[in-house]
Amino acid sequence: MLRFADWLKISSVPDKLAIAQHDELQRQIPMLYAVLSVNAVAVAITHFHVAPLYMTLWIPLVLVTMSTLRAIAWKLRPRMEVNAAGAIRMLRRTTMLAAFIAFAYISWSLGLYGFAQDEQRAHVALFIATTVIGCIACLTYLPQAAFLVTVIVMVPYLSYQLSMGGPIYTAIAFNILLVLIMLIRVLLNNFLGFQKLVEARVEGERLHEEVTHLANTDTLTGLPNRRYFFSKSTAMMERCTRDGTALVFGTIDLDRFKAANDTFGHALCDTLLAEVAERLRDALGKEAMIARLGGDEFAFVMETDLRRAEQLAQAACRRIAQPFHMGETKITIGASCGLAMRSDEHTNIVSLYDQADYALYYAKNHQRGSSITYSAKLDQTMRQQRRLETALQNADYEAEFDINLQPIVRLSDFHIVGGETLARWNSPTLGAVAPAVFIPLAERLGLINRLSLVLLGKMLRTLGQMPRSVVLGFNLSAYDLASEETVAAIADCIRESGVDASRLVLELTETAMLRDLELAHRAMEEFHALGARIALDDFGTGQSSLSYLHKLPIDVVKLDRSFIVESRMTRSRDLLQAVITLCRTMGLPCVAEGVEETEQLDMLRAMGCENIQGNLFSAPLTVAQFEDMVKEAPGRSVSVA
Ligand code: C2E
Ligand code: CA
Ligand code: CA
Repeated sequence: MLRFADWLKISSVPDKLAIAQHDELQRQIPMLYAVLSVNAVAVAITHFHVAPLYMTLWIPLVLVTMSTLRAIAWKLRPRMEVNAAGAIRMLRRTTMLAAFIAFAYISWSLGLYGFAQDEQRAHVALFIATTVIGCIACLTYLPQAAFLVTVIVMVPYLSYQLSMGGPIYTAIAFNILLVLIMLIRVLLNNFLGFQKLVEARVEGERLHEEVTHLANTDTLTGLPNRRYFFSKSTAMMERCTRDGTALVFGTIDLDRFKAANDTFGHALCDTLLAEVAERLRDALGKEAMIARLGGDEFAFVMETDLRRAEQLAQAACRRIAQPFHMGETKITIGASCGLAMRSDEHTNIVSLYDQADYALYYAKNHQRGSSITYSAKLDQTMRQQRRLETALQNADYEAEFDINLQPIVRLSDFHIVGGETLARWNSPTLGAVAPAVFIPLAERLGLINRLSLVLLGKMLRTLGQMPRSVVLGFNLSAYDLASEETVAAIADCIRESGVDASRLVLELTETAMLRDLELAHRAMEEFHALGARIALDDFGTGQSSLSYLHKLPIDVVKLDRSFIVESRMTRSRDLLQAVITLCRTMGLPCVAEGVEETEQLDMLRAMGCENIQGNLFSAPLTVAQFEDMVKEAPGRSVSVA
């Protein structure tokens, strides 16, 4: 009973069903009013001469006008989308109105009965039967209303008939009741079918949504995938171009992810990627549409000004640089980001993506772990970079590269005790390029090993032609030590040159030694075995841990220029003094680099530093100039205690 009352009150209709009912009714209700009006007019006409005017004109006029107005209202009502609450409201209103209209019409019809002759009574009975059947048919999608209409019409009609007696009309009334009961039954069945259809459609829509979601999502991170991201961002870009509003495109690439993948395995790094996505979402916020483009590459677009995008991107890089704790394992990676801002010159999203990617490329090579924004200036820098890369890649090393030698002198008597070999590149397309530029570039492009060997060859040939007293330093890159083949090739090159290897000092930086301590150690042993010596270069720039001096076979320490420059400050001076004293006690000769001023020279002398190198004595010289200088003032080799 309670459930029936609930059903009648339309209180537990599922949302989608209510909306579907609403849509169907919107089509059928006007027909209902049309049936009502036409039938009422017909009855009014047949009773015109027998019933009073208010029954055949005024009342029907009111009823028909009301029906017509409702029909017009329904017809004119825009076919708008309703939400579930609106649909349910409308279903309730329609049910109530149907009950009211049924009541009004049946009261009028039974009123007419009093005046009717036999034939006209037949018409009224027919009117009631056809009208109710018509109305019920129109109310297929609102069974509650159909049911109420049936009850409201049939209860008074039957009661009236029974009270009036007369077998024919009572039989007709019962016939009608029977048909109506059957009709309501059929209607309920149909409605059940309709309900199932709607449910199936809803399920279909849900499945479709799920499939679409899967097709658009990167399963690992739950972020939009490449395809979806580009279709969405294209639409965003078109809108922003139309409205002239800001749009920033960002690309993000993880630093050291491949190494993490190799070390920790794919399974853990898949989880790592999901956590990276989480941090990106956190840092970039809701404004950004973030996607994983593949591998360890992410991208985002946001409709915001450049300053805000830059702040958010920097924050994202910082967040990702913080260690990830994955169970017992702690993984530290990083992220670099490239940004590009939409302007009118961009014709499509790809051109914006290219610029962001260009900036990312720059960030990865020059400012790892941070965000760089594409600009015309950056473009110029990168073009210059590309020119450099192309020139270096296509360079004829033998012809274009040369060596300079910078004298190293003993402080006590300014005797030249040796020199450092410094590479010089005279590119036919770019002119002179500084080693601080081309050495890191050669390292990045994987060209350094080949270049080192060419330079070493040149240096050894030069050394071979110089007086036996001359000792030369030669810089090796960290990448040279990292490759066993290159180490072997260097050793071969020294052996084959026929030059006494004891006249050679190989300069290695702390970072080169630290890269792979074991490998570096072995290489150093190999060079030692040949008779060459090892200098620890640029001491004072890296971590400058003095423990290497004990652990590694180092023969000479070269104190970095910055160490000397900063020695104006007391703390640095104390440190410099400590290092020089330590070297002395260990019997390691020191060379102070970049000495430019006599004050520095005096200070170093007072501290007990034996050798200096720097522009104060001589800038790097051509081989011929160096030879002349050595002839004028023949020196001795850097002595190793
Ligand atoms: P480095 O090994 O520290 O070389 C010393 C640098 O200091 C040289 O710069 C030299 O010209 C500069 N220098 C010398 N005296 C002074 C001075 O009084 N004041 C100042 N401001 N600078 C001074 P350069 O020739 O530009 O070389 C730069 C760096 O490039 C070198 O630093 C070295 O790391 C690298 N490099 C040069 N040649 C080679 C090479 O053949 N192979 C490798 N792997 N690296 C090289
Ligand atoms: Ca050096
Ligand atoms: Ca140095």
